[in-house]
Amino acid sequence: MKRLTILIILLCILSLCTSCSKPAETVEIVDDNVRNVYEIFVGSFSDSDGDGMGDLNGVTQKLDYIQEMGYTAIWLMPIHPSPSYHKYDVTDYYAVDSAYGTMEDLEKLLEEAHERDIQIYLDLVLNHTSNQHPWFQEAKKEFLSGEGGAYADWYNFSHDAQNGYAKVTSNTYYEARFVDSMPDLNLNSVTLRKEIHNILQFWLDKGVDGFRLDAVTSYYTGNNSSSITFLNWLANEARSIKSDVYLVGECWANDSTIRQYYKSGIDSFFQFSLAQGDGVIAKTMNVSSPAPYFKRALSAAVDLTEGHIPAVFLDNHDTNRIAGAIGRTQIRKIKFAYGLASVFNGSVYTYYGTEIGMVGSGRDENKRIAMLWDSEDQSMLCRNPVNTDTAEYVYEGVKQQEKDAASILNYHKAANRLRNLYPAIARGEMTFYNDLGSNTLLVLEKSWNEETTAVVINFDPEETATADLSSLNYTKCETLSVDQEAAVYKDGQLSLPPYSIAVLSNGK
Ligand code: CA
Repeated sequence: MKRLTILIILLCILSLCTSCSKPAETVEIVDDNVRNVYEIFVGSFSDSDGDGMGDLNGVTQKLDYIQEMGYTAIWLMPIHPSPSYHKYDVTDYYAVDSAYGTMEDLEKLLEEAHERDIQIYLDLVLNHTSNQHPWFQEAKKEFLSGEGGAYADWYNFSHDAQNGYAKVTSNTYYEARFVDSMPDLNLNSVTLRKEIHNILQFWLDKGVDGFRLDAVTSYYTGNNSSSITFLNWLANEARSIKSDVYLVGECWANDSTIRQYYKSGIDSFFQFSLAQGDGVIAKTMNVSSPAPYFKRALSAAVDLTEGHIPAVFLDNHDTNRIAGAIGRTQIRKIKFAYGLASVFNGSVYTYYGTEIGMVGSGRDENKRIAMLWDSEDQSMLCRNPVNTDTAEYVYEGVKQQEKDAASILNYHKAANRLRNLYPAIARGEMTFYNDLGSNTLLVLEKSWNEETTAVVINFDPEETATADLSSLNYTKCETLSVDQEAAVYKDGQLSLPPYSIAVLSNGK
């Protein structure tokens, strides 16, 4: 018995040494708001107590995973008390929904995330509340009494039937643009604005790093100018509390509208034109001249933001998941899409599960199904949202993909690693190398903080590309390849496998 124990101890030491021989790479995360952001629907992500409902402690338990994947910020979809599964109709902006845990659980998540240099952003829904919010209950009473009052001023009531209004009684209505259960707030109200300030103060004091602002074009429906003015007020309020707070807005619109919204001073707006199956990134893999097409896209994304932070994404909780949109069996394209997203300046957002090629379309619930941690043992997965009508998994779970060098997961991990290791990729001023005249090979340099990195992209799905880059003077080459095939870089001559991205640098 004793011998067996010693043997086990020896084996343990041996196995420790095996892992010692390849020390984990430490990458210093730049202390700014340019991040690899991981979007989480808490209810479907990770269940810590086995009740089938994903929770905040579940997120905390997965922080090691999130960190190892190279994500440096988390956007939590709404966590406040709410009668709905999606929680975009809030009944208390100062609390955590008990289905997800407690305030202490959130504080623990914040603490443990910050220890890993991971920022936490909360989803802030200011366009509307739940009709069950005590504010609205009170407001309705005040309005019906005919005397008005403090809360009645926080919503938009009317005695006339209007487009976008729901009925209270036969001759009283309230603005509710999305659905009757979500009354729109009157963002002109001075006392409501004081309350919004208090909400910002409350969460920033807790240590929250930023907010994702829901539905900003609906703040003043049909009136972008007023919505932008409100956002400008909001940005100033938030920054008066925390000067480096990060704010990203959901302005689901075309680039020219988003360009106007950047005048508000908000850090980022999701660039919808890049996302989804018909967006610029996916299209890049189908056009006949991808190099010049993608070059324009890289420049346009920076130009659009006018000094702010581009917000690049492929899919989110409202869209079809990208793996299905591209073609669920097209694993090389699914990987390459993220590779292309990852070379944009700015922050890149990944919706949970997209890093393992999860699919989902149709009803919103289908896009928010359980994260597949382990495809062989699904006993600990979260319960899918009620009303999910399709829950399919095309690729294996996290546990299986971690062990597979060719997995979508390991491709995402490698892309994030390069962005973290070479901060110029996400932040650098771009210079395009024009000497190639190729439709399928793009070379650009990015300079940031006295560091210059070259990014070379071979858009050809089948052919290896070669280029003479001897004039650029780089010493090191790393490859992000959909086929795990390394580029060859010698004496300035680069040979780059199909659907691959090379990062050239001097050291690290
Ligand atoms: Ca739970």
